[in-house]
Order: sequence, then structure tokens, then C-alpha cells
Amino acid sequence: MSYSISQNLSNIQQRITDACLQNARSPQEVNLVAVSKFHPQAAVEAALKAGQRLFGENRVQEATAKFPALKEAYPDLQLHIIGGLQTNKAVEACRIANMIETLDRPSLADALEKASQKIGRLPDLLIQVNTGNEPQKYGIPKEEAEFFIESSLNRFGKKIRGLMCIPPEEENPIPHFHYLKSLAKKNNLPVISMGMSADFELAIQEGATLVRVGSAIFGNRPAS
Ligand SMILES: *Cc1c(COP(=O)(O)O)cnc(C)c1O
Repeated sequence: MSYSISQNLSNIQQRITDACLQNARSPQEVNLVAVSKFHPQAAVEAALKAGQRLFGENRVQEATAKFPALKEAYPDLQLHIIGGLQTNKAVEACRIANMIETLDRPSLADALEKASQKIGRLPDLLIQVNTGNEPQKYGIPKEEAEFFIESSLNRFGKKIRGLMCIPPEEENPIPHFHYLKSLAKKNNLPVISMGMSADFELAIQEGATLVRVGSAIFGNRPAS
């Protein structure tokens, strides 16, 4: 397992570099978030041994079970929460995450503000935009995004680092990536999290600075 994880990682890193060079971008501008959800701690450890330091988890509970011990062994490990976040998990998320990529509604902003006051720590934040306006999906609806970005910047200042999206599965992702990039640019936000195993090269072409890759590194996810 560890052999293929390290092979997969160097393969993905090479593809990221190639995509950057093909689009006249510096490979330093694009960081790989290795998405380890549903995979065991041993898989994360294999990736750490291969030099990977930035990880993404969907669920706070799973992250809390897997990561504190690893963070002790690898103090430069960075953890991003990339799944929809319930307000009652805000305190735990603020404790464990270096970045929460999924701020998507005023009630969560309230909860994160309270949580950070309580524990004296606030991770960096991305605002998730529901670029496909899919009813079942997380993310602030497109037509509310500008106002939400502005009010979040007023509330959290520089902690708001950028934007994140997950395009609808059956659609061409390029218009979604393009939209997210222009929205980030308009608001002077440097971080753009978009692209997964199937489409991260297109996301890099459209301006991603974070790509979130799971199955292409860790293999298919075991059933949850
Ligand atoms: C699972 C997940 C990913 C990774 O998906 P893969 O297709 O396995 O690369 C990326 N982003 C989010 C938000 C996810 O939930």
C-alpha cells in the first residue's frame, strides 16, 4: 500500500507540474491537498513518509480520530476541512484544522466566530460557492455569493483566504472553474480551491491554487 501511495503521489505531483508549465504557471502556485477521507491512518502515514504534508478530510469526527497523533509526529502537517460543516462541530473544527474550506452560510459564520472566541484560535477560511446552484449541495448560492464574501471579509478580515467549489458531477467543470476564479479575482482573494482526481488539470488551467485529490492517491474509498 505505501509503495503505491508514494508512487501515486509523485505521479500526481508530476501531472500538477506539467499542467502548470502548459499553462504558463509556476508549480509553486499550486498546492496538493491529499484527501484521505475513509482511508485509515496508515494510509495518511504512508503519504507523510512520501513527503506529503497537506491533507483534507470531510468530517470533523473522522479528522479528530485520525490526525492528532500524526500531528505530533509531523508538526508541519496541515489539515483542511473540506466537507460540509455543521454548526455544532465548529469548536472541534477550529481546534483541529489549519483551514476550513467550507464556510457557506451566515449561521456557520456565527458559529465559527463564537468558537474562535471560545478557544482563541481561528483557522484560515475559504468560502464555498455552490456554482451549480444545486439544491442538495453545500455552498452559498451564486446570487448571494458577493454579499456573503463581503460580509465575511468584514467579519473575519484576512482569515478569509479565498473560494472553493465542487462543480455538478455531470457537467463540464470549466465554466464553474472560470466563474470561481473571476469571483476570487474580483474580491482580491488569493486562494482558489477547485479540481479533484478527475479534473484537477483543467482546474489548474483555470487558475486553481489548491487541488483536492483523493482516489488518485489513495485508491478507491472503502465504503463508509
Ligand atoms: C472526496 C472529495 C474530494 C476528492 O475526490 P476524488 O475524486 O477522490 O479526488 C475532493 N473534494 C471534496 C470536497 C471531496 O469531498
